[in-house]
Amino acid sequence: MRLSLGSALTTITPHSLSDPITVLDGVGIRLAEKLERIGINMIQDVLFHLPHRYIDRTHLTPIGALRHGYSAYIHGEIELTQVRYGKRRSLLCQISDGTGAIVLRFFYFSKAQEKGLQRGLPLRCYGQVRRGPNSLEMIHPEYRVLGKTPDVELEEQLTAVYPSTEGLQQSRLRKLTDQALSTLNNDKQHLIELLPATILAEQKLPTLVSALEYVHRPPPDADIKSLTAGHHPAQQRLAFEELLAQQLSLLMLRDEFRSGRAPAFNISQRLVPTYLQGLPFTLTHAQQLACEAIASDLSRTMPMLRLIQGDVGSGKTVVAAYAALQTIEAGYQVAIMAPTELLAEQHYHNFLSWLEPLGIDVRLLTGKLKKSLRKAATARLQDDAPVVAIGTHALFQEAISFAKLGLIVIDEQHRFGVHQRLALLAKGQHHNTYPHQLIMTATPIPRTLTMTAYADLDHTVIDELPPNRKPVSTCVISNARRDNVIERIEHLCAEGRQVFWVCTLIEESETLQCETAIDTTEKLKDRLTTIEIGLIHGRMKASEKESVMQDFKNGKISLLVATTVIEVGVDVPNASLMIIDNAERLGLSQLHQLRGRIGRSAIKSDCILMYQAPLGDLARQRLAVMRTSSDGFLIAEKDLELRGPGEVLGTQQAGLPDMRVANLLRDAHLLPDVQSTAKFLLKHHPDQVKLLVHRWLGNSLEYSNV
Ligand code: ADP
Ligand code: MG
Repeated sequence: MRLSLGSALTTITPHSLSDPITVLDGVGIRLAEKLERIGINMIQDVLFHLPHRYIDRTHLTPIGALRHGYSAYIHGEIELTQVRYGKRRSLLCQISDGTGAIVLRFFYFSKAQEKGLQRGLPLRCYGQVRRGPNSLEMIHPEYRVLGKTPDVELEEQLTAVYPSTEGLQQSRLRKLTDQALSTLNNDKQHLIELLPATILAEQKLPTLVSALEYVHRPPPDADIKSLTAGHHPAQQRLAFEELLAQQLSLLMLRDEFRSGRAPAFNISQRLVPTYLQGLPFTLTHAQQLACEAIASDLSRTMPMLRLIQGDVGSGKTVVAAYAALQTIEAGYQVAIMAPTELLAEQHYHNFLSWLEPLGIDVRLLTGKLKKSLRKAATARLQDDAPVVAIGTHALFQEAISFAKLGLIVIDEQHRFGVHQRLALLAKGQHHNTYPHQLIMTATPIPRTLTMTAYADLDHTVIDELPPNRKPVSTCVISNARRDNVIERIEHLCAEGRQVFWVCTLIEESETLQCETAIDTTEKLKDRLTTIEIGLIHGRMKASEKESVMQDFKNGKISLLVATTVIEVGVDVPNASLMIIDNAERLGLSQLHQLRGRIGRSAIKSDCILMYQAPLGDLARQRLAVMRTSSDGFLIAEKDLELRGPGEVLGTQQAGLPDMRVANLLRDAHLLPDVQSTAKFLLKHHPDQVKLLVHRWLGNSLEYSNV
């Protein structure tokens, strides 16, 4: 690796794409830190950081030709600038070009900005056109007052807009991309074409280098619509290669895993029957089938790798305990991994109540555990005595080792990445022997996607809820009727029932979400003076969260205000009402997960989806789906159907691998070809396979990276 030698020298020393980003002109440590936040470490990473949209400043549109909903670059003369006071203070600036007039509206503006928009000056701006109260408008457009030099040239290419991070300007990213593209030209060895020509021809895909050049600097006649939607062949080419690399790595890992051996555990004669007799209910038929499948998997010497998919409340935990018992009876250890401390603790309490009477050692291991306790627990794992260890990923991250790990259970898999899951296997690996693995998820994932993200797993669906459940009835109510809702809470709590109030926010910001929850709690406390109200949010310490949750579980708290942290797994059967504030902001699958927190007993439960009026058509349809269906799979399908084309499903939500270019929903149509190409490459071009996986997944496959 080369050190930066100062700009004079670096311009004559050709860089290599694998050089650290700091060798580029103007990239110091501060900038490098920002770039690292968006995954850019070496020059090549800049090339794979693709624009998420494009703006067209290659031509001007006459103002008279503007239409609602379209984005355009316009040129006009300022006719009037004024501050309007109303519901919301705004700065309005009207410009016209002889063909028509349009208003530019700013909600955030400075005095200097207001002064700069002087009547009579020419101005250029780019933005999205929308219908305003009196005329067409652009809200917060990018603009430039031209002053006395009106002859500004048009751009020759579409302008790429990159995903960025705080304090990182677009102009900066564009300059870096220019440098990376010229490095690409000088360094042909790094990004060699890894797809055989026959595949490219068959799939009608451009080469890697031309695809990269195109997406970063599309020509003026490029189809901006298909680029924006991510459907352009240049983008599809990159997505194809990334999906291929993902698929190949999964197939390779699976082969490695399947060729290993696992300890075989006999069908349990003692612990499982006692456990089943002690349960206050009998297993549903679907639970029984899942248990049988697991029992037979565990009795074989091939490592189990099974996904249990079951809607919220279908009773997956009971099945996990069954698997744990067969393992323990054979004298092996069990590790159970939950995505949050809250869930780990809940599992711990459940397992304790089921397994302790059977004389089994159950340990909780979370990040916050006191050092001494942690030491005792980890020492226990290094013994080869049978034990069930329950924890968050902290359990696996640190220097914890298991002497005799026989089974790993991963709950709510959608919170973990695919590769993180696979890498976990290394923990229990001794020579060529692996622990069995059981993965549980409530996320209904459409079939094609399951085949990709979980290409390596056997699959069981628990398609039945326990019989004592009354379906949750759901209604959709405007925020204007908040008072009625609050009265209803009062009545219910007076009857001894418990209530969830979930606060949501569209912004990704956890801080804002917590503030809203705190604010809502204060307001509810003012209104509901006789009711014990608790608050739980992601910014609280784990111990605080646990104590609030414990109070809610044993009924000390009647109304629990929460952010979406309670989405996963929380089980409080006495809670029979859930209010979801601003429900229109959440995805359907997320709403379904939340709603799954109630209706967990024979009590009739209600879910109120409260929205902020007015509700758009799409939002109305989406909420109607929630009102009429309680089937997680159907809801997931509708969710896909009703999503706007440009909208992206967070990979986090679906448990899909994190990807740089591809979007599994948008690019799902590529999957069949990706799968067949993967098999073809493994057979005929094994050398390319390694390079492909390395290019896209880099070191994330190394086990130490869990
Ligand atoms: P999930 O599949 O969402 O993880 P849980 O395992 O938390 O569901 O189970 C939800 C609730 O249903 C728990 O209170 C559990 O004790 C109860 N439960 C599980 N199986 C049955 C059953 N067969 N009959 C009645 N209740 C059950
Ligand atoms: Mg669960």
